[in-house]
Amino acid sequence: MKPGENSMATGASFTLHGAGVAGGIAIGHAHLVSTARLEVAHYEIAPEGVEAEIARFDRAIAQVRGELAALQASVSAGAPAEMKAILSLHAMLLNDSNLSVVPRELIGNRRCNAEWALVLQMDYLVAQFDEMDDPYLRERKQDIVQVVERVLKAMLGTGHAPPEPSHEEDVIVVAHDLSPADMILFKQHRYAGFVTDLGGVTSHTAIVARSLNIPAIVGLHHARGMIREGELVVVDGREGVLIANPGAQVLEEYQRLRSKIDAERQKLKHLRTSRSATMDGVTVELQANIELPQDVAEANEAGAAGIGLFRSEFLFLNRDDLPSEDEQFEAYREVADAMHGRPVTIRTLDLGADKSINGADRGGPNPALGLRAIRFCLAEPQMFLTQLRAILRASRHGKIRLLIPMLAHAHEIEQTLAAVRLAKEMLDDRKIPYDRRIQIGGMIEVPAAALSLKYFVRKLDFLSIGTNDLIQYTLAIDRTDDTVAHLYDPLHPAVLQLIAQTIRSAKRAKTPVAVCGEMAGDAAMTRLLLGFGLREFSMHPAQLLAIKQQVLRTRIREVEKPAARVYLAHDPAKARALLAKLNA
Ligand code: PEP
Ligand code: MG
Repeated sequence: MKPGENSMATGASFTLHGAGVAGGIAIGHAHLVSTARLEVAHYEIAPEGVEAEIARFDRAIAQVRGELAALQASVSAGAPAEMKAILSLHAMLLNDSNLSVVPRELIGNRRCNAEWALVLQMDYLVAQFDEMDDPYLRERKQDIVQVVERVLKAMLGTGHAPPEPSHEEDVIVVAHDLSPADMILFKQHRYAGFVTDLGGVTSHTAIVARSLNIPAIVGLHHARGMIREGELVVVDGREGVLIANPGAQVLEEYQRLRSKIDAERQKLKHLRTSRSATMDGVTVELQANIELPQDVAEANEAGAAGIGLFRSEFLFLNRDDLPSEDEQFEAYREVADAMHGRPVTIRTLDLGADKSINGADRGGPNPALGLRAIRFCLAEPQMFLTQLRAILRASRHGKIRLLIPMLAHAHEIEQTLAAVRLAKEMLDDRKIPYDRRIQIGGMIEVPAAALSLKYFVRKLDFLSIGTNDLIQYTLAIDRTDDTVAHLYDPLHPAVLQLIAQTIRSAKRAKTPVAVCGEMAGDAAMTRLLLGFGLREFSMHPAQLLAIKQQVLRTRIREVEKPAARVYLAHDPAKARALLAKLNA
């Protein structure tokens, strides 16, 4: 019997299919959430408790009023121009009776707890905004949500008490949608698995889910609506299959599979200290991708040769202010110190698209094609310079490299290099030391960059191919949109040509080149990329040993020709068959 085959046996059991984004099998009880931040308790207040509950609500409103006033007073010159305006708007929304008075009435009349009353009113307001014709006004619902989140936080003190860790390990989080900012909050927890209705496999939500190293599925469409709180669910992150209320036999089968996968993972740990080289002696650098400084421990545990991609923008999420130069410096230095001289590649802010700082960037009508990454940084020079100074300051504590995302134009490279020069001059004026020869690299993730590589190799010290975006922009599929997720295809001939040509041209120019997109952590792609000539891979620490296993079983001269055959097969089905042969 195959898993899930008799999923209807118990009657109440059902199966949903989505896209598995993180492997393994999780078995646990469903916990339904809206967003990580708006998950609040719902309970009834006794009549004699109503007055105290209203007072609790009023105190939270007053506290947030004070916080917003303090933030408005402290917005630094480096903050994006819109930030101050957003804070005034938030103060105005907070003072409006819709948020500061109506919830009091709900507590009094319906006797719901303060958080519940506030979220009820928020849902009502958001629904009204949704009906507005003006897209600008419609988008203002985000501001309401952000103000409500602030008040909830004030009411919950340090936030709602997370479930006991022993309980968490039995919890499968079920959500309609989660933003990357929501997902990063889950790093503080130890949930068994995640599933969402929306999201593509290389969305940043999925990427963070993968970095949590627990089974996860996105694009299930109806999970949030069909699964009930507390129901037993099996999450098969390899196949993208969710089974609710599995029958005894199915459950047993998955328990067996889970143990088998755990044993395989344990076995891989033996590879941690072995040299990463092919059977014919070619060294292959395996580095780690991280989102937060705390992830470095896992990178070290996996034996990473360095940090190939530090997605620094995650330091900027889930907060209303921007991290100062000092705060950023400390974060970057922490990573450099923990890597003990091994390279640390810090990518400058890749904000925009699906990652936004509270209120500051609006994304535009088409966020993936809008003011994102280096475009956003060049439009906000003070913010960019603050980050560059922080990275430069940290550079004397290790081997730090600067990586610039989403470059497409020569003038973007010129402006970025000018900004780095200016940041250096600013530090010179302050007599602050830094690595004067810090290397500056560019991400190749827009087809325009891949197709005009000559200029890039002349101006930059190294390159890193971001296959997630390269695939998104080559195939014109929004990586966050599950309705087009089936069109995401790393084996599309156009994608393979861009990757293979970039590697070849970079090598010819003697410019080091890595792949740091999700393809680098996909064991099915390792031998293909090695055949294309790639010698530097960067991936989530959890994938590193599986990739090393592929490297160790490969002879370069045996994969070069078969890899070229995959690349030359203009039919994706044929490419898939040839890849299977290459991996056999
Ligand atoms: C990529 O695009 O492949 C990449 C590594 O960057 P991100 O996933 O953060 O956009
Ligand atoms: Mg990218």
